[in-house]
Amino acid sequence: MTEYRIEIERLHRFSEDVLVRAGARPKDAASVAAHLVDANLKGHDSHGVGLLPAYLRHVREGLVTLDAEETCVQETAVLLQIDAGGGWGAPSGHRLMDRAGAMAREQGIAAATIGNVHHLGRIGAYAEQAAEAGLASLHFVNVTDHGPLVAPYRGSDARFGTNPVCIGFPAAGKRPAFLLDIATSQIALGKVRVAASRGGRVPTGSLIDEKGLPTTDPTGMAGFELKGALTPMAGHKGYGLAFACEILAGVLSGAGTIQPGNPRRGGIQNRMLSILINPDKFGDRSWMEEEVQAMADYALASPLMDWDSPVLYPGDPERAIAGKRRREGIPLADKTVAALNEAATRLDCPTLT
Ligand code: NAD
Repeated sequence: MTEYRIEIERLHRFSEDVLVRAGARPKDAASVAAHLVDANLKGHDSHGVGLLPAYLRHVREGLVTLDAEETCVQETAVLLQIDAGGGWGAPSGHRLMDRAGAMAREQGIAAATIGNVHHLGRIGAYAEQAAEAGLASLHFVNVTDHGPLVAPYRGSDARFGTNPVCIGFPAAGKRPAFLLDIATSQIALGKVRVAASRGGRVPTGSLIDEKGLPTTDPTGMAGFELKGALTPMAGHKGYGLAFACEILAGVLSGAGTIQPGNPRRGGIQNRMLSILINPDKFGDRSWMEEEVQAMADYALASPLMDWDSPVLYPGDPERAIAGKRRREGIPLADKTVAALNEAATRLDCPTLT
């Protein structure tokens, strides 16, 4: 498999150009492009520019609203509910963090929901935005508008999305921001796609086939309409968290869960509940920072089981990959580049290579 290395600025310009040519408002295109490239930069290629062909299909099929206007469904001192009007995820998601962040700074805490929004992408980006503003945050997300991908614990077919849960805390002393940003499936759908396209296998226990039997063969399971199903992470614990996302994000946003009574048009929509917390309102910030740092030092000093695999602080893997990719460029598989070039050609845009 050939791999290309693309310079970050170039990938950003390319993504922005095709989105504008497809009809996105320039500000939206800039935000979506920045969000996708940032996901690649942080090593989450499943949520990077490889999604552009799908996003462009959604534009062609009217599954994302290009002239969307957000509506504020409800706003109090600590509560915000936004209906994004079916528009792009990244600009609405980052605006939500700005507005709810200002409330949390003032009041100590704020709960915000967003619904009727296209794909919000890598959820960690919103926790990073909150952390940079000095805020802790929790995010619960469900995924709708296409068929389910993940089986419930002890079930034999898909009933859930990969529903991510994300928790962030600002930098403390010498420790940069804490970031736990995980899908609740055992492996991400992107990993099934990669294994299928390389003719490889997926880890034992991470996939079941259409008969509900465990399989490691990803063939025929790479699309959004899986023949089988992904399994939840950590058995009943991941299943419970995925269910919590349906309730906290799908229900509290007022936009709905993945139950089959709701639309499945073949696009991607997210709903998100974000809870933002101002640590300053909970106590002495310098003590908190020392305590977080001491806890991190303690956890990371655990004697290693394998000398080649250090204990890491959640958020460090993204920072390490970002450092490398900033220097070396973003690696893109030839199949991804071919799909991006095809999308650009269709829109009369210059290709990437
Ligand atoms: P993953 O399994 O790569 O885990 C990533 C998280 O684990 C990060 O917080 C990372 O810092 C931490 N981490 C990784 N290795 C670690 C280690 N050795 N020690 C300590 N911490 C470690 O992530 P995933 O489950 O494959 O999810 C990938 C991305 O997909 C996430 O950014 C998520 O938001 C996104 N996602 C989005 C949607 C959506 O609908 N918008 C759906 C599912 C997933």
